[in-house]
Amino acid sequence: MPDQLTDTSRLCVHTMTTKPLDLKEAIPAYEAAGVKGITLWREHVEPYGPKEVAKMLKDSGLKTVSLCRGGFFPATAGMAREQARTDNRKIIDEAAELGAPVVVLVCGAIPDLDLKTQRQQIAEAIHAIVPHAKGAGVKLAIEPLHPMYAGDRSAVTTMDQANNMILQLGSEQVGIAIDVYHVWWDHFLKAEIERATGTIMAFHVCDWRVPTRDMLNDRAVMGNGCIPINEIRGWVEKAGFHGFIEVEIFSDELWAMDQERYLKRIKNAYLKHV
Ligand code: ZN
Repeated sequence: MPDQLTDTSRLCVHTMTTKPLDLKEAIPAYEAAGVKGITLWREHVEPYGPKEVAKMLKDSGLKTVSLCRGGFFPATAGMAREQARTDNRKIIDEAAELGAPVVVLVCGAIPDLDLKTQRQQIAEAIHAIVPHAKGAGVKLAIEPLHPMYAGDRSAVTTMDQANNMILQLGSEQVGIAIDVYHVWWDHFLKAEIERATGTIMAFHVCDWRVPTRDMLNDRAVMGNGCIPINEIRGWVEKAGFHGFIEVEIFSDELWAMDQERYLKRIKNAYLKHV
């Protein structure tokens, strides 16, 4: 039985959490901090290309957990919607090359269309790319985003909407990414996590800073906010998910500090508050 106070075997960090680090700096820094998994953001893969990154990771002790991010499906013009599907097929190929088993989907939103229409477009787009994902052996995880992003990031804003879409799509290739930052406030969270049993593909943690000064880059380290992370983790595990716990923090303030020190802080917060 691993010691809960020192066990980091399920600790994963998103490369965007340590945004200032180049991937060649991030990999050894993660290993030194006891991190065991890495979720790659395409921005950090881009300078080297997927083939080179796959090799770098193979030589490291880190497991590739997910690739962030695909999605952004809704558009007013049919051609733009088709282009988004083409782009996502490329992202799936990139994930396969990287050895990333999951692509996280930030489904997209635009202010010109009503949310219901956009959700329909999102479901149709995912349905259209499922065969490609299946062929590549890559899963697609729908990440519902906090409703404050409904104008330009995601028309999928609740666990309920994501669960319904997954049910509607009916493909084992498609599941959900649960990010506590986006869903912690939801009155039906516990029941919706239970409903997601068998389809949970990713679990993202950070904390909700009070007050939040910036809707994009002001997330907090676990324990420095108001999200009951440990309770939510319990629900997620009860729903059968025992994969990596991914630390995903966007913060101008934390990106400004020494990233090696920051990683130690993340590890300690993970052991204490997650
Ligand atoms: Zn997330």
